[in-house]
Amino acid sequence: MSDAQPTTRFQCTQCGGNLKPDQGQLFLTCPFCASTVYLDKSKVVFHWYVAPTLDESKARAALARWMSGNQTVKDLDKKSQVTEVAFEYFPLWFFRQQDAGGKERILLEPAAATAVTEVSHLQLPPGDLRKYEDRLDAQSHAPSVPLNAALEWAAQQSPAVKQNVVESALVHVPLFTFKYDFNGRTYTAVVDAASGKTLANIFPEKAEAPYQLVGGLAAATFLCLATFPVLGGFFDDGGTMIGFAVCSVLGIPAALGLMALAAYVSQKV
Ligand SMILES: [Zn+2]
Repeated sequence: MSDAQPTTRFQCTQCGGNLKPDQGQLFLTCPFCASTVYLDKSKVVFHWYVAPTLDESKARAALARWMSGNQTVKDLDKKSQVTEVAFEYFPLWFFRQQDAGGKERILLEPAAATAVTEVSHLQLPPGDLRKYEDRLDAQSHAPSVPLNAALEWAAQQSPAVKQNVVESALVHVPLFTFKYDFNGRTYTAVVDAASGKTLANIFPEKAEAPYQLVGGLAAATFLCLATFPVLGGFFDDGGTMIGFAVCSVLGIPAALGLMALAAYVSQKV
């Protein structure tokens, strides 16, 4: 970029008017058309935000519903302790893609470091996007991932992405970040203050190991019992009968025991 034409870098996405940002200024309102834009290293893009509909107590309730749901360990809402809660407008890169058939898709990538990369799975209905407002600055997280880096990352997952992007924008979404303790570990979960959706990368899941153990025990027990009549058959004519007898005497209590164990595990886990 030559010094002779510095203004070509900062043209409003909406009206093409020349923008004159102050030193270090990234969030801008166009003086001509009042569009809100963000100055990325590579280009000027629209800057939106999503308005929250949940306050902290409603966000806590949304978190508790998720914790008592099927994804997480039983009674996580009662057994865990929320230790920290913070609110901020978190930046996401918003890419509107169009495939050959004209079908549109929205792709989101985090525009700053986050412990919950699942935020890229948020739903952002276009009707929810509003012009960014200066009053949000104190609560909004500045982007640290350049647009091109996010686009590269998206293209690695789906190579057609780059050619098909018809619009890029920066969106600040309202998020409550919760830290909670469970069994001596700290976990992070995020509640979207617009939709109430809870997102987490790592959380106490319903453990599969106890179920697998019960299943394995059952298989081993019955395999073992089934060999008694077969082995019995090798000895003499009565051997098979004795084998069946052993099988029913041991097998029925074993089956009852395994059913009780399975019931206990499903109660506990
Ligand atoms: Zn403008």
